[in-house]
Amino acid sequence: MAIWIVIGASRGIGLEWVKQILARGNTVFATVRDHTKASQLWTLSGSAPRMSCQLLECDVSSEDSIIRFANDIAAMRNLDRIDHVIVNAGILNYPNRATELSFEDFSNHLRTNAVGPIITAQKLLQTRIPIGTITFMSSDSGCATDFHAFEDGFAAYAASKAALNQMLRHMAAELQRTKVYTTILAMHPGEVATDMLNISVGWEVDGIISAEQSVAAMLPVVESKTIKDSGTFWTWEGLQHPW
Ligand code: NDP
Repeated sequence: MAIWIVIGASRGIGLEWVKQILARGNTVFATVRDHTKASQLWTLSGSAPRMSCQLLECDVSSEDSIIRFANDIAAMRNLDRIDHVIVNAGILNYPNRATELSFEDFSNHLRTNAVGPIITAQKLLQTRIPIGTITFMSSDSGCATDFHAFEDGFAAYAASKAALNQMLRHMAAELQRTKVYTTILAMHPGEVATDMLNISVGWEVDGIISAEQSVAAMLPVVESKTIKDSGTFWTWEGLQHPW
């Protein structure tokens, strides 16, 4: 039985991670930013075996909230290892064009999609509980070498995921240098039918998949990675993604 943490699990891909982790008989600490607005996760945790799904709060756009969450994890008695962490929380305020967007909108994308995820991982690492893998839900939008010029309206989102990618590569290299054996991964979940695409963007995307399909494919990819893979980027189908 493996121990997982999923950051940003109230709905969409994060909620599906929790569902599939539990279905495999594992334990999961699932976070939401506001536990009063996580009815689907409450229902799921209520039907899971006792203590196998525990809800915690973590708003990745707030340093105080991240620290409180990491302290909650550090205070867990008998938690002597964490096998996998999925840093899933993210926002997309569509459209966010470079020629139009506000200072605040750009900052919010960076704060929630890059700064918060990296600091959350950092604070978990600082608990000194051994962690097997930390996987960040990145995006093909953040790929710097395969510029998605057709993605009109995604400039700040793409820049925030590119910043996330660059930071997680540094995190992987720094951990290797200091002989901390946590595998750091980036993953593109595919184009997934969630609120982010259906409501935020509101138009049809080619090759769209369900959250169930996406997570069912990503889960064995995460489980198969070892320290030699740290600092790599993967597609939901298990193919290496260019940076
Ligand atoms: P959704 O918009 O459906 O869900 C986003 C999740 O992130 C929600 O649980 C939301 O919580 C949480 N979240 C947002 N802001 C914060 C915050 N400040 N602190 C904590 N949690 C927060 O998105 P998806 O499920 O589609 O996306 C999940 C991840 O996958 C994101 O990182 C996204 O960028 C990435 N991704 C998604 C793709 C897709 O096609 N859907 C494609 C590529 C990447 P709340 O309910 O409180 O808002």
